[in-house]
Amino acid sequence: MSSEEPLQLIVSSPSGAGKTTLTTRLLELVPGLRFSISHTTRKPRPNEQDGREYHFVDRDSFVKLIRDEAFLEWAEVHGNLYGTARAEIDRSSSARGIIFDVDHQGARQIKSSSPDAVAVFILPPSMVDLERRLRGRRSEDEATITRRFRAALEEIAHYGMFDYVLVNDDLSEATTRLVSIFRAEECRRRRAAGWAERLLAEGRGFGGTQPPSQST
Ligand code: ADP
Ligand code: 5GP
Repeated sequence: MSSEEPLQLIVSSPSGAGKTTLTTRLLELVPGLRFSISHTTRKPRPNEQDGREYHFVDRDSFVKLIRDEAFLEWAEVHGNLYGTARAEIDRSSSARGIIFDVDHQGARQIKSSSPDAVAVFILPPSMVDLERRLRGRRSEDEATITRRFRAALEEIAHYGMFDYVLVNDDLSEATTRLVSIFRAEECRRRRAAGWAERLLAEGRGFGGTQPPSQST
């Protein structure tokens, strides 16, 4: 089934709760989804590639993009700048869905420009697990881990603006729930209405009550 517009799925969480892991799995399991590749001034992690996880740019280039109004939204998060370029939406116009991995500020901005966007907030099972995951990733130094852990409560405090809250305890169970959210949202009447309307138009084309094989 296809809807008219790509479904916009916002995924946010405190750093380390698992949104990159879960969105990667969602992208693998649901064909036709696109990941919105943000711009950031953060340095790439060892496993990251420019143009795949992010467009890595310096601060001057980022500020120029702000001035050029290239961003749908942008925010400062953990001391770095992050933004979603308008071009990302254009690139996804024929996709089944587009996933935005953004913080609560970005989620609010996307929701205000696209009220139909679906926002999912991912929580760790506990703060102890969150710290363990932040450390287990082995991609940040101690100061960065501490900064991100401290920012977690501020991020969690914004859970009220999200449509769904998903606890990432068991990874495969959490993945199933995220896929289920996406699939259920695709079946919302306003998204699926085009399908019913097409059937009605097709039926009217051969007289409405006659099966197609018997219409002349
Ligand atoms: P985020 O993108 O939210 O900052 P990541 O997806 O990078 O978080 O996950 C942080 C760490 O936690 C990674 O090392 C990842 O493998 C691990 N992780 C993610 N989900 C789970 C889970 N359900 N159980 C255990 N570890 C997890
Ligand atoms: P990380 O550095 O761990 O990749 O991301 C740090 C935070 O920045 C996460 O909360 C992530 O969701 C957020 N983020 C990533 N890209 C964007 C973006 O384009 N806009 C906003 N507002 N936040 C983003």
